[in-house]
Amino acid sequence: MSHHDERTFVMAKPDAVQRGLTGEIVTRLEERGLKLVGAKFMQIDQELAEQHYGEHEDKPFFDELVEFITSGPVMAMVWQGADATRQVRQMMGATDPADAAPGTIRGDYGLDLGQNIIHGSDHEDEGANEREIELFFDEDELVEYTRSDEPWVYEDE
Ligand code: UDP
Repeated sequence: MSHHDERTFVMAKPDAVQRGLTGEIVTRLEERGLKLVGAKFMQIDQELAEQHYGEHEDKPFFDELVEFITSGPVMAMVWQGADATRQVRQMMGATDPADAAPGTIRGDYGLDLGQNIIHGSDHEDEGANEREIELFFDEDELVEYTRSDEPWVYEDE
């Protein structure tokens, strides 16, 4: 695997879908040069929500979080590119939109911690990206292809 092949799991949360921000999220990641390799417009059920947010099981906000993420459709996606997991996290901004820098997705579109528009795998949690991809996608639902602008995004391509 070359360093351009890192994959990360991203989700436009129910508030993003309801507010018509799905396209904006896709556009930002796409224009950055990251490559969309999987996408699923879906409704998350209770079981998947509890699995996905399993690490927060004991937190006081867990029930609310599960309720929110199952409250409407989401767009689950896999994006690929150099350092993809960390780069997406930087583009998302701080978990609480009130602390997120302008120019980040949460900093530009959110005001409320509980409705913070986007999920992206944690780059500080080793392997979280691949675990989350596996939870939401079968390997045969992911597409391998070359984007025509790759030589213009990566100097050594
Ligand atoms: N969250 C919340 N209250 C809190 C902390 C987190 O509602 O006090 C929600 C918030 O939507 C966040 C999600 O739980 O996106 C997962 O929290 P995490 O710390 O993993 O933040 P993230 O990785 O999404 O930035």
